Amino acid sequence: MSSRYNHASLEEADATLGYILDIVSDGVWDWNATTGHVQRSPGWYRMLGYEVNSFEESVFTWENVIHPDDYEKVMQHFEAYIRGDINEYRIQYRCRKADGSYLWIEDSGKIVARSADGNVERMIGAHTDINEEKNAQKKLRRQNQLLQNDNSTLESLINQRAGELIKLNHKLKSQVEEAQYNASHDVLTGAFNRRCFEERFHQELDRVKRYAHPLSVILVDVDDFKVFNDNYGHKMGDEVLRCVANLLKQHLRDSDLLARWGGEEFIAILPNTKLEQAAEKAEQLRQIIANTHFLDKANITCSFGVTAYTQGDTSDSIFSRADKALYKAKSLNRNNIQTI
Ligand code: GH3
Ligand code: MG
Ligand code: MG
Repeated sequence: MSSRYNHASLEEADATLGYILDIVSDGVWDWNATTGHVQRSPGWYRMLGYEVNSFEESVFTWENVIHPDDYEKVMQHFEAYIRGDINEYRIQYRCRKADGSYLWIEDSGKIVARSADGNVERMIGAHTDINEEKNAQKKLRRQNQLLQNDNSTLESLINQRAGELIKLNHKLKSQVEEAQYNASHDVLTGAFNRRCFEERFHQELDRVKRYAHPLSVILVDVDDFKVFNDNYGHKMGDEVLRCVANLLKQHLRDSDLLARWGGEEFIAILPNTKLEQAAEKAEQLRQIIANTHFLDKANITCSFGVTAYTQGDTSDSIFSRADKALYKAKSLNRNNIQTI
C-alpha cells in the first residue's frame, strides 16, 4: 500500500493527470502556491499562438495575458475561490494571443493540496478555447438586435401609415358626407333642395297610392321680399331667409320634409296629414313668422297655399293646385293661407 504514496508514483500520477487534462482541454496550468511556480502545457502556448515555454513560469504570465476589461472580474472570482467563498473556480474571459488579438477561453481549476493550516499549496486548472462559441453568441445577439430594430422600425412605420390611412379615411368620409349633403341641401338655408324634394315627393306619392294614406303640401312665399331687400339689403335678406327656413323646420314634424323651392319660396310635404290639419299647421306657421322680429330689426309675412292629395293626382297636379292656392293668398292681400 505504501508504494502508492512514494515519490515516484506521485510523479507518475501527476504526469498521467497532465496527459488527461491535455486531452480534454486546450491548455493546462499547474500552480504551486508555495514556490509561485506555474507550469503550463504546450497546448496552452499553442492555443494562444506563443512559442512553447516562451514565458516565465509564474502567475504574472497569466495575469499579463488577461484582457484588461476582464482582469478585475477574473481576479475577484479567483480570490473568492481561494478564500473558500465559492466552491468552484470556473470563469470565461479573454486572453491576449501572440498576434495581439484576444481569444475567449473558459478557465476552470481546483485546489488539489492545502497545507495543515488550510492555505492553498497547489491548484491545477485547464483552459478551453470557447472563441467560436462566444463569437457565434455575439453574432446571434447582434442579429437579434438588428432584427428587433428592423421589427420596431417596421412596426412604427406600419403604425404611422395606419394612422395616416385612418386620418385620410376620416377626411374622405367627411368629404363624401359633405358632398352628399351638398347634393341634397340648399347651401343658404340648409333646407332640402329642389332636386331632393322632387325625388322624395315621388316616393311619398308612391306610398300614398299604395297605402291610401293622406298627404298634404304647403307652399310658402315671403311677401314683398323684393321690397324687403330694397329696404334692408340683400345680405340681411339672406339672413332672414335662413331664419324663416329654421322657423319652418322647427315647427314641422321630423317626418315632414321642407325644401327651398326657389328664391324666397319654400315647400313642405306633410305625410299622413289631411288638408284641414295641414291648413291648421300653415296658419300656425303664418302667425309665428308674422310675430317674429327678425334679427331684432325687421318683420316679414308669408303667404301660404295648401292642398292635399286626391286620387289620380300627380306631383305636377298637386303642385299646380298649391301654387294656385298661393296665388290666391297673394291676391287676397298676402299674409294669409288658402286651401284648394
Ligand atoms: P310677392 O309678395 O308677390 O311674393 O313679392 P316678392 O317681392 O316677394 O316677389 P317677387 O317674385 O317679385 O320677388 C322675389 C324677391 O325675392 C326678389 C329677390 O331679390 C328676392 N330673393 C330671391 N332669392 C333671394 C335670396 O336668396 N336672397 C335674398 N336676399 N333675396 C332673394
Ligand atoms: Mg316668389
Ligand atoms: Mg315673394
